[in-house]
Amino acid sequence: MAVDTPARVAILGAGPIGLEAALYARFLGYDVDIYERGNVAENILRWGHVRMFSPFGMNRSTLGLAALRAQEEGYVPPGDDEFLTGLEYVDRYLLPLSQTDLLGDHLKLGIEVVSVGRPELLKGEAIGTEDRADSDFRILYRDSAGAEFIGTAEVVIDTTGVFGNPNWAGEGGLPAVGETALRDQIEYGVPDVTGSARSQYADRKTLVIGAGYSAATTVVALAKLAEDAPNTRVTWLVRQVTEAGPIMPIPDDRLPERASVTAEANRLASGASANVSFKLGMSLASVCYDETTGKFQVELAGEAKERDEFDAIVANVGCRPDNRIYQELQIHECYATSGPMKLAAALQGSRAGDCMVQKSHGPQTLTNPEPDFYILGAKSYGRNPNFLVSIGLEQIRDLFTIIGDREDLDLYKTAVTLLS
Ligand SMILES: Cc1cc2nc3c(=O)[nH]c(=O)nc-3n(C[C@H](O)[C@H](O)[C@H](O)COP(=O)(O)OP(=O)(O)OC[C@H]3O[C@@H](n4cnc5c(N)ncnc54)[C@H](O)[C@@H]3O)c2cc1C
Repeated sequence: MAVDTPARVAILGAGPIGLEAALYARFLGYDVDIYERGNVAENILRWGHVRMFSPFGMNRSTLGLAALRAQEEGYVPPGDDEFLTGLEYVDRYLLPLSQTDLLGDHLKLGIEVVSVGRPELLKGEAIGTEDRADSDFRILYRDSAGAEFIGTAEVVIDTTGVFGNPNWAGEGGLPAVGETALRDQIEYGVPDVTGSARSQYADRKTLVIGAGYSAATTVVALAKLAEDAPNTRVTWLVRQVTEAGPIMPIPDDRLPERASVTAEANRLASGASANVSFKLGMSLASVCYDETTGKFQVELAGEAKERDEFDAIVANVGCRPDNRIYQELQIHECYATSGPMKLAAALQGSRAGDCMVQKSHGPQTLTNPEPDFYILGAKSYGRNPNFLVSIGLEQIRDLFTIIGDREDLDLYKTAVTLLS
């Protein structure tokens, strides 16, 4: 709902969408607090070695460029057609943006948001009414030493992403037997196997689970590592397969990085490398770690059962939103994706194979029964992995037409004139 300035807007998470939303709010004159549990763009830093498949022009806003130019006349952004690694994106755009006068003093790093609620209202009270907005939000947050504090805000935008909250690797999305105890020893991210994590994977045997772009990236990188370290072995576990292989190619894909990873992963799955063994229709049934040998003992389930042992396990099985932050608020979640319901329904109705052809679904799909609480960015897609930064920028523009109560409000368009 519309909220006049000066009101306090709390942004949860300083990833690209949190920073861009904070910037938009600052330009409009809101007071902003950005709570970030790690460093700026912490989640992107965790896969910083991976080259992004969307060009920089899709990953930055005109407002961001205008803020950076206003801060430092000599700022030279990456070219719009450059394909940056995650780390380059942070170093050359997100970090400088976070340090501008507009954002720098509003950023609370090393602060984890634990829970958000309304001090005078329980979850089940004033159901679905705007009366709930009479009581400001209360934000419980924790610093890195474990001390807890309370913040307040009139508007909360949750952009905490999903990357830190992986799915389970077992059958049917359940934890495999033994997996919960090994949560910290199994790798759920995209390790830099040819760089900083090389010693953990070179000439060793790795189980990779999953059939998305992250799994494809991991398998392709491990196969490359095997060219230098020939005893490197990979077993790639996939539940189902398309005609072309585990990764469905996008016809005439306009993103060369994505097309090449897809083609190479499918080639490896077809038996092109003696170092990669592809197992279709199998999943992880149980896992344990043998301290004496330093190896994972696993049982794989499919038509038959198999036992094997591995030096490392990389489970690229997707991520899900952590909804504990808003469990005391009235958020209607989709029963299939765990994303906010209105957007999930719109996404379901517009299923497209290529995430590049998506559009934002309009301001109303961003609203929740809880007034003034919004979920934007990767978290707004729930378990759906197709989110792109460019969609998040559209979401920000759409959201502030509601908060700012102006249907035609578009600071990104206005900023184009500032840049020219
Ligand atoms: C390997 C890989 C490659 C990708 N390539 C692309 C690409 O080419 N193009 C593209 O558009 N997208 C790409 N993505 C998706 C990309 O990660 C998202 O588009 C983008 O990072 C989403 O931004 P976000 O701000 O919504 O969330 P995130 O970037 O995940 O940021 C969330 C932030 O919230 C913080 N946080 C989490 N919980 C809390 C809490 N409780 N309290 C405080 N802070 C918290 C996190 O530390 C993090 O900094 C890729 C993803 C992966 C994994």
